[in-house]
Amino acid sequence: MGKASRDKRDIYYRKAKEEGWRARSAFKLLQIDEEFNIFEGVNRAVDLCAAPGSWSQVLSRKLYLPAKMSSEPKDDNLPLIVAIDLQPMAPIEGVIQVQGDITNARTAEVVIRHFDGCKADLVVCDGAPDVTGLHDMDEFVQSQLILAGLTIVTHVLREGGKFIAKIFRGKDTSLLYCQLKLFFSVVTFAKPKSSRNSSIEAFAVCENYSPPEGFNQKDLHRLLEKVGSPSGQEDLDCSSGWLEGPNKVYIPFLACGDLSGYDSDRSYPLSGTYQSLDPVQPPIAPPYKRALEMKKASSHGIRESEKLSLEG
Ligand code: SAM
Repeated sequence: MGKASRDKRDIYYRKAKEEGWRARSAFKLLQIDEEFNIFEGVNRAVDLCAAPGSWSQVLSRKLYLPAKMSSEPKDDNLPLIVAIDLQPMAPIEGVIQVQGDITNARTAEVVIRHFDGCKADLVVCDGAPDVTGLHDMDEFVQSQLILAGLTIVTHVLREGGKFIAKIFRGKDTSLLYCQLKLFFSVVTFAKPKSSRNSSIEAFAVCENYSPPEGFNQKDLHRLLEKVGSPSGQEDLDCSSGWLEGPNKVYIPFLACGDLSGYDSDRSYPLSGTYQSLDPVQPPIAPPYKRALEMKKASSHGIRESEKLSLEG
């Protein structure tokens, strides 16, 4: 697909370049904020699965840059933002970067060390595995990323803090909702306007972190396993048994972002004078880099052999 054709087909891709965002995902976080005011009172934030960095840019523009503009030059109380991803990403002002796997305990330790005994007010996680198209499989791998995110949350988030996580809607959505409800008094599943209706993606917006009394981080997995089973019944507000039949939990999905704003599933025409912009910051080491090199090498090989056969 040509650049201009993607610009026409994907209004948020086009707007992201115009507004200097590295990815169209920035609008998802901004639209969640419009509805939930997630940045209010936030001074420390963690961005899990952050590359290429548009959510980190939002955190920097919403938290770090305004504080820097209004503070004394030597103020060391500026907002702290830590971003983690498997992939390296180009620097962003006010964002500390950690390259690592969030499912690895050592990565969690590095994040915790950056907070130096203090706790975060907000943890966001836009992690996504390489989607296979097999929904059950994709949903499962996605849930492992949320679980890793929740593990980090239980170590770094202050009581009352917020956690925003990408989820894939599927048959286990009610179970996930109940698991998150163990730790947060308010959990809402949101679908920002910039997230295509055709995509199974949505976001869990979890407010007021309040782990169960006497909670020990080591018990996280055991506790989550109990959710939705009859033996876990007495421990939960939202679960009353197997989460099936009359006990099934129905979760509303809240649309957020200006509902009369741009529709991510629609094409918008380009004006005659329209000039397509380059991406703001291409990924510096994308996982598909080797595939591109191999493709380039093989098409070069074909061209060379075509040249030889023409010459021959
Ligand atoms: N929020 C980002 C932004 O706005 O630019 C986009 C995130 S992208 C949809 C998903 C990211 O999840 C990828 O960069 C990928 O490398 C990362 N990811 C997937 N599994 C991960 C893991 N186990 N640990 C850390 N990052 C992971």
